[in-house]
Amino acid sequence: MRILVVEDDRDLNRQLAEALIQAGYVVDRAADGEEGHFLGDTEPYDAVILDVGLPRMDGISVLERWRRDGRTMPVLILTARDRWSDKVAGIDAGADDYVAKPFHVEEVLARVRALIRRAAGHASSDIHCGPLRLDTRASRASLDGTPLKLTSHEYRLLSYLMHHQGEVVSRAVLTEHMYDQDFDRDSNTIEVFIGRLRRKIGSDMIETVRGLGYRLSPPTP
Ligand code: CA
Repeated sequence: MRILVVEDDRDLNRQLAEALIQAGYVVDRAADGEEGHFLGDTEPYDAVILDVGLPRMDGISVLERWRRDGRTMPVLILTARDRWSDKVAGIDAGADDYVAKPFHVEEVLARVRALIRRAAGHASSDIHCGPLRLDTRASRASLDGTPLKLTSHEYRLLSYLMHHQGEVVSRAVLTEHMYDQDFDRDSNTIEVFIGRLRRKIGSDMIETVRGLGYRLSPPTP
């Protein structure tokens, strides 16, 4: 899962990015509204954390432009304390949730998890697929109750497939959601990670759909 953080406060931006990376996400960062708008307009994010008070273009305008242009990714806005009008303007502009500053990073993480889950149609923080269970709170996966030892890349890949189980997901899409913008992407590496995942979860759950991509579904009984 790939997240965009748009925040001009350098320390806060770094703090959020580090916590998100620690939780298993890939993160792109922007420090002003124009850069943030550009990234959100050109890259596919699973969620965006958007500060309202930003240089060059304020957060509400950034959000309005995205929504006007049909960008539907979940957006969590960060508002200044006691600025209730920012919350109203943000929600009216298309924000999915908000957190007022100062906040605990854990709260932002919980809200981001919920946004991503709901966008993929999952109500609970535990996502199941046959014997597989993804605990999105702890960023862990298990198979038949036994914890899986996954690298961060394998976790991201499995997490994306589990959020989108039953759907055919192309290699290009997986690549876009597993690496940040600065990463030298090579979609062939996805095949390697799929192979490793199959060795850990069994080969029957991830199906290769020729020419289209991969589909994770529960094993047929
Ligand atoms: Ca700010």
